[in-house]
Amino acid sequence: MCTTEKPTPLEIQTRILARNDDTAAHNRMHFLERGIFAVNVMGSPGSGKTAVLEATARAFNGRGIAALAGDLATDNDAQRLIRAGIRSRAITTGQACHLDAELVHHELHHLDLAGIDYLFIENVGNLVCPAVYDLGQSANVVVLSVTEGEDKPLKYPTMFAKADLVLVTKIDLLPYLPTDLDAIQDALARVMPDPRVILLSAREGFGIDSWLAWLTKCRSAMEVMA
Ligand code: MG
Repeated sequence: MCTTEKPTPLEIQTRILARNDDTAAHNRMHFLERGIFAVNVMGSPGSGKTAVLEATARAFNGRGIAALAGDLATDNDAQRLIRAGIRSRAITTGQACHLDAELVHHELHHLDLAGIDYLFIENVGNLVCPAVYDLGQSANVVVLSVTEGEDKPLKYPTMFAKADLVLVTKIDLLPYLPTDLDAIQDALARVMPDPRVILLSAREGFGIDSWLAWLTKCRSAMEVMA
């Protein structure tokens, strides 16, 4: 009797992730060869990811940075970033809740990377799936706004455990919220092995200097390794 064993869902998932890791390694080599520090920017919808990148674009005067902006539908974020003065392309995923290395690889062929030192990859807004798929980035940055409640890091520990840096955004709104900033910091310290946090207001510019200093330091370290 002939039997055909079907792969289990876990086996299928393992194969998908292995293929993704191969493409991510290819992307990473591409970035390192060009001296590009690539940042996977993750966070909830409405956490302020695009606003942080707009403020970053302005701080760099639009020079040396580019962005890919992932969303299920619309190229709104990519258009916002183009208006902020940088090269940007949208990746619309349809129903997928995250970007993967292949989507990024495909879009890189349509983005002029000449003269680019930093590539920001704004992931699809959610705190679960984006943490699972390596894109070839040099760093994971999670954007967490003070409007999201204090226990998000405890509810979504994987995302925060993988973060090299957390940007706590919209801090200009703190006077109007019951949010306890210490409780957010405490939750981050519980789930991050080495918590690195910058408090930021993209609207008022607070924290942008620290964010730029972090980027510059990390890119310098990357060049030493490359
Ligand atoms: Mg956005």
